[in-house]
Amino acid sequence: MSPHTANGAQKITLEIMALLNILNYPDKRLHKVAKPVEQVNDRIRRLVADMAETMYAAPGVGLAATQVDVHERVIVIDVSDAHDQLLAFINPEIVWSSNEKKLSEEGCLSVPGIYDNVERAEKVRVRALNERGETFEMDCEGLLAVCIQHEMDHLMGRVFVEYLSPLKQTRIKSKMKKLAHAM
Ligand SMILES: [Zn+2]
Repeated sequence: MSPHTANGAQKITLEIMALLNILNYPDKRLHKVAKPVEQVNDRIRRLVADMAETMYAAPGVGLAATQVDVHERVIVIDVSDAHDQLLAFINPEIVWSSNEKKLSEEGCLSVPGIYDNVERAEKVRVRALNERGETFEMDCEGLLAVCIQHEMDHLMGRVFVEYLSPLKQTRIKSKMKKLAHAM
């Protein structure tokens, strides 16, 4: 997901970063379904680190591996104001979601400049592996709940604009194509 406004100074780091290329809607690769991670090893930890750098640099509050053309079930999220609470979810599953739904405005690093309302479960419980390969569960609400559902959709090959009306989707596609042409 991308924040509505880029608030605060961007993190400056002297480490060598590997910024990954983010696919832009309507790239067909955004519709690939990600496979489960078989083993949480150094390759996966490196992917998590690179995805985090890419998310912070964008800047964004969440990124799914699908968006960087890696089709494995890995998500990074940081919804903290200080951008210092990185969460990595490997093989995430939603094990419970509230019946209560909530409409909130979403944006996406793969659909730059587009924000619209999407209805999601207000609260979810997620089970996933962390970077050490340990299982954990987390109760999520507010922006975190929205973000986890948005990013898990990416892993299933779904982009948030697909919840919008066909007319809006057509408009967004043509806007994105113009943008790609201008770059
Ligand atoms: Zn997104």
